[in-house]
Amino acid sequence: MKRLILVLGAVLLVSGFAFAGAAGEASSAGDSAASEPSIELDDVNRDDGVLRIVGTTTQAFDMLEILVEGTTGVEVSNLMGAGVDPHLYQPTEQDIDVMNRADAVVYNGLNLEGQYDAVFEALREQGVTVYGMFEPVKNAGFIIGAFELEEEVEGADDPHFWFDPRNWGITVEDTARLLGELDPAQASVYAANAEAYVEQLDLLYDWADRGMRSIPGRQRYLVTSHDAFQYFGAAFGWRMTAIQGISTEDEAGVGDVQETVDFVISNEIPVLFVESTIPPDTIQAVIEAIEADGGAARIGVRELYSDAMGSAGTFGGTYVGMIAENVYTVLQSYQAAGVDVEIPEWPAGLEPAPPASVLNPTE
Ligand SMILES: [Zn+2]
Repeated sequence: MKRLILVLGAVLLVSGFAFAGAAGEASSAGDSAASEPSIELDDVNRDDGVLRIVGTTTQAFDMLEILVEGTTGVEVSNLMGAGVDPHLYQPTEQDIDVMNRADAVVYNGLNLEGQYDAVFEALREQGVTVYGMFEPVKNAGFIIGAFELEEEVEGADDPHFWFDPRNWGITVEDTARLLGELDPAQASVYAANAEAYVEQLDLLYDWADRGMRSIPGRQRYLVTSHDAFQYFGAAFGWRMTAIQGISTEDEAGVGDVQETVDFVISNEIPVLFVESTIPPDTIQAVIEAIEADGGAARIGVRELYSDAMGSAGTFGGTYVGMIAENVYTVLQSYQAAGVDVEIPEWPAGLEPAPPASVLNPTE
């Protein structure tokens, strides 16, 4: 269901591009939106002295909160909470109203928010700044190239770029620039917040990279049910393979359960991971098939955060904590499977520090 909608959305996206490319400047903007339901928005007076910024995903909201620290007259809010799958999330009437009252909406893009195109179009017409976080990262060529989705959506970039903390640093700096343009009086605050935060992201990256590279190269395959972790893997010298097969980036792409089973057994991959926004059934089926074929693999000590972070107020409810907890989950799971792993000391000054429940998984 999820995959079908993702593919349909991406096909629309791709055919939209193709149309724009073929018709060139002669096409009128209205034509390509003809098949989408039009959305009527109320006229709103946004000139009330408050700068309202809405982030669509948990990641966007987390970054906005960090960038506006110490400012006055700025309100940030989010639409999707913990555990929400943004590929499928339909904006509610209330969401649309919140976005329409905002000065700017900050979204992920590359079709992650699969159900938002018509709403964004209508918001732009109302004068709301609609800003895609993917743009500066894509313009910079991503830290490690973008990944193409599989054949149905060839040419479309993988939207999960935030999983490389260096990509996220690019996003942070550019979002601070945007906020400074919307609110020039406090531009220096946004810039200083961005600079301090990028230093944190650098600490996070170095820490994660050291731990993730301590696993033998041959076993550095993240086997999950969905496609979210290409950038997360590539950032640290890993490859990933998803049973649902969104990625066919290289020979590691597998199309079905039996291929995954053979792949896991022949590469001696000891752990398969379940993701926070996807039901665990598929991975469970693969583990059972591996055992039936005489192999052995276990499920990770925790779920991986994929397209949404953890609940507000938890370690995984921050970007830094979400990345770090995923790294701990990978390393601890491999360690539990008997692989020799280095779990580096948490860097001094990197906030938030992991709680005992993350440092010592009970399973
Ligand atoms: Zn996803």
